[in-house]
Amino acid sequence: MPSPIGHALAGIAAGWLVDPPGARDARGALRRAAVFALAATAPDLDLLVGAHSGPTHGLGAAAIVGVLVWIWGRGRGRSGGWGGSRTAPVALAAAYASHTLLDWLGSDTSAPIGIMALWPFSRDYYESRLHVFMAISRRYWLPDFWTYNLRALARELVILVPLVAAVLLIRRWRPAGRA
Ligand SMILES: [Zn+2]
Repeated sequence: MPSPIGHALAGIAAGWLVDPPGARDARGALRRAAVFALAATAPDLDLLVGAHSGPTHGLGAAAIVGVLVWIWGRGRGRSGGWGGSRTAPVALAAAYASHTLLDWLGSDTSAPIGIMALWPFSRDYYESRLHVFMAISRRYWLPDFWTYNLRALARELVILVPLVAAVLLIRRWRPAGRA
């Protein structure tokens, strides 16, 4: 499964795809990118409670994040800023859901293999056969820990940096007259 850096990049791409950065608001775009990155790495907080790859990795969890942001935005009304916008809940849910996609596309070396991608509809674990991303090793005592993980990270960067750049290019080119 990918590293937090890979997840953060995919989250930024997904978030910006839904809610593109404004051409004249670089600071706002970066702030949103940080929020998308946080949302995309959040599912792995389940490592802290020893229940990795479970419900936090399900698409249902992404939907819950979207609903919570929507409720929070409504509560704050117009003063909610970007968080109160119509696109924020979808963008954050998309950033969160990118974690599900990346983990599904990654190889997994520790049981249970795969992720609970369809939680709460299914508690089965899913893993794609494509193995686009290498499994980041947490076995720091092994001699090839650093070389292996650097290789895994390089692979993520080769795939995901161009993806973020492509989203940025595509979504910044909006038809004239639209904000
Ligand atoms: Zn994960």
